[in-house]
Amino acid sequence: MLIDVHAHLDFPQFDADRDAVIERAKQAGVAIINSGLGTTGIQKTLALTEKYDNIYASLGITPTEFSEKEIDTTIELIRQNRDRIVAIGEVGLDYYWVKEEDKRKQEAINFQRFIDLSQELRLPLVIHSRDAEEDLLRILKEQNIKVIMHCFGGDAPLATKAAKDGHLISIPANLANSKQKQAVVKAVPLESIVLETDAPYLSPVPKTRNEPINIRQTAEKIAEIKGVKYDVIEAATTQNAKKFFSL
Ligand SMILES: [Zn+2]
Repeated sequence: MLIDVHAHLDFPQFDADRDAVIERAKQAGVAIINSGLGTTGIQKTLALTEKYDNIYASLGITPTEFSEKEIDTTIELIRQNRDRIVAIGEVGLDYYWVKEEDKRKQEAINFQRFIDLSQELRLPLVIHSRDAEEDLLRILKEQNIKVIMHCFGGDAPLATKAAKDGHLISIPANLANSKQKQAVVKAVPLESIVLETDAPYLSPVPKTRNEPINIRQTAEKIAEIKGVKYDVIEAATTQNAKKFFSL
C-alpha cells in the first residue's frame, strides 16, 4: 500500500474520468489524501470521501486567497466537519505570487488562524510554501508545530533543517525530472519522507495530467537514490503518513 498525501482529484481536469482514475489507484493499492481548497473544493472533497473508501480529506485554502469572508467560511466548514477529515491544509505562505510586503504580512496573519485552528481541533497541518520556506520554518519552530511540507521547494540544506525540526518532507511525482528534489531525497532520512502527486499537477511526464498511481514511480526513484529495495520505501513512507494523519 502507498499513500498519496496530496492530490486535487476534485479539480475539473478529472471530470471526464474521475471514477476510472480513483479505481486505478485503488487497484494499485494507493490511498489518497485529497486537498480541498475553499468553499467549493471543500464540498467536492467531502463528497469524494463519501463515495470512495480510499480517499481521505484535508481541508484548507490557498495562501493567495485574501477574501476575509472566504477564509471565515473555510474555517467554519473545517470546524463543522472536524470528524470527517484527517488534516488541515493546504495552508501556508506563497511569496512567489505575492510580492508586496503588506500582503505577505496579511498571509502570515491568515496562516496563523489556521495554525490556531489546528491546535484547537487537534488536526495536523499540511503546508503550502512557495519561496517562503525560511519564514515558514521559523514560524512553525517558534510554536513547536510539526507538519507535512507539501511539494517541498527548498534546497537540500533547508530540507535537512526541516527534517531536523520534525517535519515530513513530501516528494512529488516529478522527482525524476528535478535535480533539486533528488538532492533533497538524498539529504533527508527515510523517516522524514512521504509521497505525493499534487495531481493533476507535477506529472512525471511534463505537460501531461498527473494521477495518484504515479507515486509508484516516485517510490521507485527514491529506492534507486537511497540504494534500498522498493518495499522499504513503500513501508516507510506509508508508515510515516499513517502516523501523521492517524489513519
Ligand atoms: Zn496542492
